[in-house]
This record gives sequence, structure tokens and C-alpha cells, in this order.
Amino acid sequence: MSSDNQYQGRCFCGAVELRVTGQPAAMGYCHCESCQQWSASPVNAFTLWAPSAVSITRGADQLASFSKTERSVRKWCKQCGGHVMTVHPGWDLIDVYAAVIPDLPFKDGLPKQHDFPSEMGGSGALMPE
Ligand SMILES: [Zn+2]
Ligand SMILES: [Zn+2]
Repeated sequence: MSSDNQYQGRCFCGAVELRVTGQPAAMGYCHCESCQQWSASPVNAFTLWAPSAVSITRGADQLASFSKTERSVRKWCKQCGGHVMTVHPGWDLIDVYAAVIPDLPFKDGLPKQHDFPSEMGGSGALMPE
């Protein structure tokens, strides 16, 4: 990592690579119905960036997109189907999914369970963010 906070990201297969620079405007977990249905997951870990902070460094022609509403343009890799980002034109922000840029220190302020909670027979141990 260079001193000006650049983080590399890639899709599931690596055909699409990207770079984000600086700090995200926000990050957290989205539980909205659209994110749940599109990601087939209970939550979507998002990091929001100004468009100028996001560059597709490889495979831009491999990105396909779909807009269910005008608020979100969801993009994924045509080769592997891996989700990459959602462009939010109205907010002038791009959500680069946190899992796509694993080196970015993701912080949401929530407890991180090492394994199952103690009520479920696990250690109940928490991990640092
Ligand atoms: Zn891919
Ligand atoms: Zn959402």
C-alpha cells in the first residue's frame, strides 16, 4: 500500500481489476431488499466512494450492469458473475463492495464474533475490528 491509501480490488475471477484511492465517504452494511435479493445474502457490506476515487484498471469491457431503479446501477463481471460495484448516480457515489477490496480496513462499529456466540455453544470471543 502506498502512502496515499490506494487499495486494489478484483472480481471473483480477476478479469476485472480496480483501484480506490483515499478514504471512503461511508461504509457499513446495507440490509435493503434490493441488496438482499441481488446479492443473495442477508446483508451487503458497502464502501461508498466519490466517482473520482474509483478507477477500473483492467477489464472495464467485462463489466455488465443492471438498473432496477434509476438510483442504482449494479455492475458485475461477465466472465465470473462476481459482483463488483453499484453506481449511485443521484448521490454521486460508487459502492465498491467491501469484499472486493479486502485490504481496505472495514469498520462498522459492530462486534465481530470469532465463532458462534456463547448462547449457541461457541466461545463468545470477540475479535478486534
Ligand atoms: Zn470476474
Ligand atoms: Zn441496499
